[in-house]
Amino acid sequence: MQVETKVKAMNCLHFINGQFVQSQNKKTFENINPATEEVLGTVAEGGKEEVDFAVRAARRALDGPWKKITLTERSKIIRRIGDLILERQEELARLESLDTGKPFALAKKIDIPRAAYNFHFFADYMISVGTDAYQQDDQAIHYAYRRPVGVVGIIKPWNLPLLLLTWKLAPCLAMGNTAVIKPAEWTPMTATVLMEICKEAGVPDGVVNLVHGFGPNSAGGAISEHPDIDAISFIGEPGTGTAIMKSAADSLKKLSYELGGKNPNIIFADSDLDDVIETTIRSSFINQGEVCLCGSRIYVERPIFDEFVQRFVEATKELKVGDPLEKETNVGALVSKEHYDRVKSYVEIAKNDGGTIHTGGKRPVGIEKGYFLEPTIITGLDRNSRCVREEIFGPVVTITPFDMEEEVIMQANDTHYGLSATIWTTDLKKAHRVAHQIEAGIIWVNTWFLRDLRTPFGGMKHSGIGRTGGMHSLDFYSELSNITIKL
Ligand code: NAD
Repeated sequence: MQVETKVKAMNCLHFINGQFVQSQNKKTFENINPATEEVLGTVAEGGKEEVDFAVRAARRALDGPWKKITLTERSKIIRRIGDLILERQEELARLESLDTGKPFALAKKIDIPRAAYNFHFFADYMISVGTDAYQQDDQAIHYAYRRPVGVVGIIKPWNLPLLLLTWKLAPCLAMGNTAVIKPAEWTPMTATVLMEICKEAGVPDGVVNLVHGFGPNSAGGAISEHPDIDAISFIGEPGTGTAIMKSAADSLKKLSYELGGKNPNIIFADSDLDDVIETTIRSSFINQGEVCLCGSRIYVERPIFDEFVQRFVEATKELKVGDPLEKETNVGALVSKEHYDRVKSYVEIAKNDGGTIHTGGKRPVGIEKGYFLEPTIITGLDRNSRCVREEIFGPVVTITPFDMEEEVIMQANDTHYGLSATIWTTDLKKAHRVAHQIEAGIIWVNTWFLRDLRTPFGGMKHSGIGRTGGMHSLDFYSELSNITIKL
């Protein structure tokens, strides 16, 4: 079965001060469907001028109508955004699939409901939290007064466009800030629709602004260096994080970074192999492996190595690769030609480094157009292979055997990334022992990508700065003043 494929060309405009507008110079670029290589529409190409308009609108709104809305009212508006996302779930899932190449079924089941939940969660959370208060004997009371941080720049990647934008925007609005958003240039559509939704939900003009464009010397660069932006919430590659930090340095912006990962998936011989296989298929190939949390380095204890490889390869061959709009498709297209070529280059690196390709590594037979790559499993690589060291961000995993607990911990930590890790064992003591030694911000035991939005989320080392989730998000999007009253 296929979902409706017809889509009117969608021309994405900026959204500034409550209005959809073109760039001053009318410049646009094309948005390509990665599954068909056809043009989906045009995108306004913004730069310094558009970012400056957006920042000025955001600054006015911050001190204007948004400030006057009560906490309860703001929570209602935020809840309403989540409701409207769910009302448009089918349409948003289709746009997300067309834009990214991800399966429509996945977008409908995960991306869009989670985008709505990001708003629903923070609508509840924001009205239930308090601030610190201390009584100091009979001398004084101290309490923390919370206020918005100001105008926030939100710069986004392309892999989970609406899910990740809303993960940042919901707490940003919850704390009373205003925003200037730049979506990834390859995936502009759902962010544009979200602006309509915000307006309909009652967000005052100027509170959320969207400027499309590219990174350096374009909208992204203009946000990073704008002197009147107070904070930047960035999700993307570590190298881009460095560039943004340099541009943001002159105005000393507050920064929150969620960056890349090269996440280990450690499988001990005592684990439940049926469960391991089922979950590892997801943690390797969901969203074409284009999830920062994907477990791309799989380490398997020697006694079950051969059985794991055989069963994992069999299960991978069952995955249906193809048209993202087909309801049965498991693996869609990679997001762009540039990214596709990059991911494929790692298959060549693996071959040159003496690796064995057990399955995949090539375009599926019979699919002539689009950026499709079969899920790829590689063994036999040395730890120094670039395939084992660098983030590939595609449907490519390496599997390595291990004999000793200390050895696998050392290999898992042998990277400058530190985002997430998965540990499989039925020995609880071992699970704790290993988890405490793995250098990663998010560690799952006998599961993967199980999230509770109250928990801290983020990466160590080059995988991020700061944590989001629950109070951690609210802390980033607010400034605290401690007020001391002498008794
Ligand atoms: P990217 O860093 O290339 O781009 C991200 C955004 O930054 C885009 O909007 C881009 O236009 C903009 N940008 C690029 N250069 C810029 C500059 N100099 N100044 C300002 N903005 C600039 O990342 P990507 O390829 O879009 O996304 C993939 C990366 O994101 C991977 O490394 C992935 O692991 C990471 N990621 C991390 C998380 C997380 O939660 N930790 C989640 C999703 C993706």
